[in-house]
Formats: sequence, C-alpha cells, structure tokens
Amino acid sequence: MTDIDLVVRARRTLIGDEWQPAAVAVRAGVIVTVAGIDAELDAAEDVTLADDEVLLPGVVDTHVHVNEPGRTEWEGFTSATLAAAAGGTTTLLDMPLNSIPPTTTVEALLLKRTAAAPQVSMDVGFWGGAIPSSLGHLRELHDAGVFGFKCFLSPSGVDEFPHLTRDQLREAATEIAAFDGLLIVHAEDPDALLPHAGGSDYDDFVASRPDAAETDAIDAVIAAARDTGCRVHILHLSSAAALPAIRAAKADGVRLTVETCPHYLTFDAATIPDGATQYKCCPPVRDAANREALWEALIDGTIDLVASDHSPATAELKVGADGDWARAWGGISGVQVMLAAVASGAAARDVPLADAAAWVTRRPAAFAGLTDKGSIEVGNRGDLVAFAPAERWTVHAADLAHRNPVSAFDGHELTGRTRRTWLAGTQIFPARADARRTGRLIERH
Ligand SMILES: [Zn+2]
Repeated sequence: MTDIDLVVRARRTLIGDEWQPAAVAVRAGVIVTVAGIDAELDAAEDVTLADDEVLLPGVVDTHVHVNEPGRTEWEGFTSATLAAAAGGTTTLLDMPLNSIPPTTTVEALLLKRTAAAPQVSMDVGFWGGAIPSSLGHLRELHDAGVFGFKCFLSPSGVDEFPHLTRDQLREAATEIAAFDGLLIVHAEDPDALLPHAGGSDYDDFVASRPDAAETDAIDAVIAAARDTGCRVHILHLSSAAALPAIRAAKADGVRLTVETCPHYLTFDAATIPDGATQYKCCPPVRDAANREALWEALIDGTIDLVASDHSPATAELKVGADGDWARAWGGISGVQVMLAAVASGAAARDVPLADAAAWVTRRPAAFAGLTDKGSIEVGNRGDLVAFAPAERWTVHAADLAHRNPVSAFDGHELTGRTRRTWLAGTQIFPARADARRTGRLIERH
C-alpha cells in the first residue's frame, strides 16, 4: 500500500476491548490498515512505540468550556486545544456558556466558529444552549450542526445563560424530541439548594448543595424524558444517591445517558482542605463512599462515560477570594489530566485499562454520534495516543497548557501519562509548528 502518511506500531494496541500487537496505518487522515506489528508498510513516517507504551484511540471529551469569545481571559481555543492534546484528547465539544454571547442562536454559533477556526489543534464541535429565550427556536440551531442542547435547572453562574423552570424543561424536551435531538442537563434543583453563608469550611459548602438537589432534578429530567420521548443526558453526575433512579429509568427504556467527571472519581470531601477553592465545582465533590459508588456505576454501565467538565476562570476568580467557597468561581480545570486521572483511578481499583479507556473514547464518541471516532478500526479517523500506563508523575498546574495555571489536580500524583497524540495522522502533541491548523470544526453527523 502506498501513500501512507503514518504507521504506528505497538505491542499493545487497543482494538475493540482487546490488546493486540498491531501496526496502524493512516492515509489522508483515515485509518486504512490495521495489520500485524511487523507488516511491511511503506509510510512517510513509521513510529514504533516504546515497550512501556500502549496505543489508544484519541480521547473524545464531550464537556469543555472554552469561554471564547467574550471570556477569553478565562480560556480560549488555542490554549484549551493544546492542553487537551497534551492529555491525549483529539476531539472536544465546547459548551454553550461561558462565552459571550452564549451559543443560543445561529449567529452566536457562527461567531464562535469564526473565533475557533484559526486556532484549533484538534477537532472541535459545539453544543447549543436551551435558555428561556431560545425555546421555540431550537430547530434552527440544530440544523446549524450543534450536537445537542444544554440547559440548567438552577442558576448557571452567568447572567446571560438563565436556567429553565420545570415547565420550560418539559417545553424544551418536547421541542427537541420533535426533531430527535439531544437535551443535556445540569441537574441541580434550585429548591433543594440551601443557603450558604460563605466562608472557608468545605463541609459547609457541600451541605449547601446536598444530594437531594441532584436527585430531585434528575427525577424531573427522567420524568420529562419518559413523557416526551426526548433523548436526555445527565451532565457531571456527582451524587451516587441518584443512581437507583437512573438504573430504574434505563431498565424501563428511558433514553437516558449519564456522565461523571475525573474530579468526582479522584477526590473526596475529607481530603479537600478548607479554603482550597481550586476544588470548587457544582455539584460538589462528595465523600469517599460516594466516589466509590460512582466507580461501581461506571463499571456496571449505569454511568456511560467520563468527560472533563473543564471549566476554568482567571486565577483571581478561582483562588483570589481568600478561600471563600461562596465567592470563588465554580469549575475545575481538568482537560489535560482526564485520561491520566481515569487510568490512574482504574489502576488503583484493578479496573482494566481497556475498560477505563472506553469511558473516554468509544463511549463518548457513541454518545455524540461521532461514528468515525473513539476506536482504532479501518475507516475511522487516525486519532491515536501513545500512553504510558505505568508512568508516575506529579501534576504541576504551572506545567499544564490551559490558560490560567490553576487546577484541583495540582500536586496530585497520577499513574499513566500521555506521551504522544496524533490527530488524523498528524502529531499534535508534542505540538509541531503547524499544529494549530490541523483541527477541524465538526458538526453533528
Ligand atoms: Zn460544565
């Protein structure tokens, strides 16, 4: 076979659920051959991975807040995609907030695409937003290629992205079901959130966002999905108390998927220092028993996938509030460490790496309808990661590539590290000079 751009050979290549010695050949961005590791393939570049490296499909991160345009000092397409690439991600889907304007109209989507196009070093797609003023107009945004619609059931944290009431949730679900779209929900019920006087005590902050806020909201989302037939997705599940309702709804055939995030799988309330607001996120990180229940739910398939919910802000907003949990921005910067954090936690629990990898590759690709991503097979995009599962390293926020060097993972030791990332057969980490131009803006298939 001629005109092959790249061959990557690895003793352990993840093919489906199995590790195989293989040579993966990419031509014009697409995997054209998966052959034996010693296969004779004439390629412009021929790479053999080190003995301690495995070859994985590129990570698909379906939950990233890039914040550009409008809050580019918080993040931006260049920094977010370079950081993600350094962690093994090759595809990310950008959330409709906290950019200004939010992605709630076709015009705003076009603005975002214009801002992103010259900067992205990986494939980037966009979620739309369902806010009160966009109800009745969602079809236009759907037709413009967004992957689905995000809504909040409690205040989002930014004024330009108001939440939906229970009635409006049903309205959105009905509207979206009519064109068989996807509704993704930040599920915290405002009526179950409790007053929080502020201060540095972490337990006070968690107590203000109890399990009931998630379980009540998730019950409402499930009911809306059941009654309208709308396909729904629960974003960033923190509370394991919602798992029984999720299991029951799935058993009943409700069209429901669920994600959790690396921070909920890594941290626990008892080890978060008071005043350490780099750990602030909503819903909050809960106790260790809750965390272990989330792991069990991933293993048994109740939780479908893991996404980073990378939601950065400036260092001033994140850690400049004298440790006051009420005033600090809620959002964790984890886009670069997701794969390592999940692999690390899996290894600590004797969960096979092949399973953990699926949670950040094949599962999110299927969820987003990215039929040519998330697995190493002929015809798929040549998105590949050289990953060293046994390498131990300590995260230093200052060394991460996202814009503001703050992260809850700072100082934490992880096991497993991305060494090299290819997007459609082109190396994007470590970045080469032309890396910014290798990404595409993608639309819902
Ligand atoms: Zn988010």
